[in-house]
Amino acid sequence: MKQRAINLAIAKRRAEIAAKKEEISKRASLVLSLPDVKDAHDKYISWAFKNARGGFADEEKLAKQDYIDALKKHGYTEDDLHYVPSCPICGDTLSVGGKVCACMRAAYIAALKDVCEIEARAPFTFDDADFAAIKDDAQRENLKKFFDYFKLYASKLPAVKAKTTVLFGGVGTGKTCLESAVSRAVIERGKSVKFVSAYEFNTAMLAAHTSPLSERSGMIKDYLTADLLVIDDLGTEPILKNVTEPYLLLVLEERQNRGLCTLVTCNLSPARILERYGERIYSRLANKQSSRIFELGGRDLRLN
Ligand SMILES: [Zn+2]
Repeated sequence: MKQRAINLAIAKRRAEIAAKKEEISKRASLVLSLPDVKDAHDKYISWAFKNARGGFADEEKLAKQDYIDALKKHGYTEDDLHYVPSCPICGDTLSVGGKVCACMRAAYIAALKDVCEIEARAPFTFDDADFAAIKDDAQRENLKKFFDYFKLYASKLPAVKAKTTVLFGGVGTGKTCLESAVSRAVIERGKSVKFVSAYEFNTAMLAAHTSPLSERSGMIKDYLTADLLVIDDLGTEPILKNVTEPYLLLVLEERQNRGLCTLVTCNLSPARILERYGERIYSRLANKQSSRIFELGGRDLRLN
């Protein structure tokens, strides 16, 4: 996903630069074909050549002023006819001193958001949190603590002890906002996020399972390699024999082995998870060494 974003960002920046150069070039040839501008420009160039050998500085200066006045008559300045780089830091070379320029970094983050489809999937950011809207004091303080923990998690990932995190909680307890805010913060750091509902995850695994073996790994690659995988609302998907349980287990194990973070939200109780997915998945999600489980309680925040 990150490589796709890099390729997309480079292609986009290069296309922007080429389009701007093309626009300036067209404008310059159009303006310089206006008779009075052409005449003034030719004279200015002629004096500039003569003065290159010395002795005609005043003539060159006057001719240049005539040229500038001719441009002005048509509403242009000299700068309108020359390419001025859109980035003053790198001059549109996209790097400075062997390092990626800030303009390219911004283009990469924008491309990463597109590749990860994050703005549509995760519209809520940490900045959108409005704790004052929560009337219940205990519930508000509790949710603030969760937000602080997950802000830190998003800023450190993958350097966190527990690679697998499970957020339990009923509808409207804030877990959807949390997973969204975490995803957005992670992307701002240039890390990739695969954000799917459990239903989409299940459907993607079914598609991979029923495809030729040679295509399978490519189809599930993003799920195995994204810096953060978010599976929203585990338990709402249908259980498909030979698909749901084995593929979920494969992805959880593989990501754990690669040291990558997985965030799962779930409306079911831990006991129901065990019952629905079996011991092996339950132990991956509830492993004390590699997982952290949070329960977001309290009344439905949407009803406050
Ligand atoms: Zn730049």
